[in-house]
Amino acid sequence: MPFIEVDNLTKRYGEDVLALQHVTFTIERGEWVAAMGPSGSGKSTLLNILGCLDTPTDGSVMVGGEALSGFSAADGARFRAERVGFIFQQYHLVPYLTALENVMLAQYFHSLADEAEASEALRRVGLADRLAHLPSQLSGGEQQRVCIARALINQPDLILADEPTGNLDAVNEAIVLSLIADLHHEGRTVLLVTHDQEVARMADRRIELHHGRLTEADIFVHQDQDLFDQLLKAVWKARGGRAGIPTEALPEFAYNRATFNLLAERGWLRLDDGTVELTPRGEERAAFAVRRHRLAERLFYETFGIGEDLLHENALKIDPVLSSEVTQKICTYLHHPRTCPHGDPIPRGECCVKAGVM
Ligand code: ADP
Ligand code: MG
Repeated sequence: MPFIEVDNLTKRYGEDVLALQHVTFTIERGEWVAAMGPSGSGKSTLLNILGCLDTPTDGSVMVGGEALSGFSAADGARFRAERVGFIFQQYHLVPYLTALENVMLAQYFHSLADEAEASEALRRVGLADRLAHLPSQLSGGEQQRVCIARALINQPDLILADEPTGNLDAVNEAIVLSLIADLHHEGRTVLLVTHDQEVARMADRRIELHHGRLTEADIFVHQDQDLFDQLLKAVWKARGGRAGIPTEALPEFAYNRATFNLLAERGWLRLDDGTVELTPRGEERAAFAVRRHRLAERLFYETFGIGEDLLHENALKIDPVLSSEVTQKICTYLHHPRTCPHGDPIPRGECCVKAGVM
């Protein structure tokens, strides 16, 4: 079951404003999703509903097995305190409380305020020496880090961030993003609203809103996603029977260091001590990429009679856009072939298992 399931969500304000219209999507536990879209497209409304700061007009919203649509105000407050960490563009710190007190206030709504824990959270965001400062004595970046400490304190499994770097300079943006990346790395689910393509690039996936409707956003990230697939495939192929492979044994590594770091940050692979290893998720993605590519080669070979030397090149053009559904259709159409035209094995898919072709 997905961690977040939004089904046919509609939000109306008064008679004329339709902030969200029939929005449907899911987010898996541990996923980092970026929500994009022009101003007024309903991004904040969506986040507020997921965090129980607002209620749906219609449709259902499930988070971690709880149906938010049926919540009373008290249920909503409990849910927010226990499960959600909010990070806002405008910080929303209480101006007359110190950094430490702001964090402890969030704790208080959860259970009991614990000063040691609150100062540990502030230390974690690099503010150990600013505990007694008021928000007005902190820079924007520091205030945002207080917000992150506040969001962290109750160990929420869902982080909702609404343009968290919208008001920050480049350095603080990088700090805040790396803190969010850490939270993601720890297994928390992150939904982050941003206008910035670069920021969105750090997410596993994007969704896009236009006039309150969800639109396909995957199209314009294909270039990145292609490179990710290429690199994961390279690791998959190079490793043979080994678990981890030395990065020197991988020519791609030297040219794509930053992307390898990004892949590690997003949980597709592990980098340590000069070796690289696929995580189970990375393994699955790489196998699917190899499968797609080899099936595309076989399709070109059998259907269009394209020569072996041109197969790879032709397959590269279409394989990135093959969804898992289309891939299964091709596989079934080709009677679940075991190898590509060059004789390399095609990783099995769900459809092969169903058809009993192992
Ligand atoms: P975004 O975050 O994408 O900029 P919002 O979710 O804030 O967009 O707003 C979506 C639409 O809903 C806008 O037209 C906005 O004016 C409207 N809206 C948001 N909150 C309210 C509210 N409390 N009352 C009336 N209209 C609202
Ligand atoms: Mg907004």
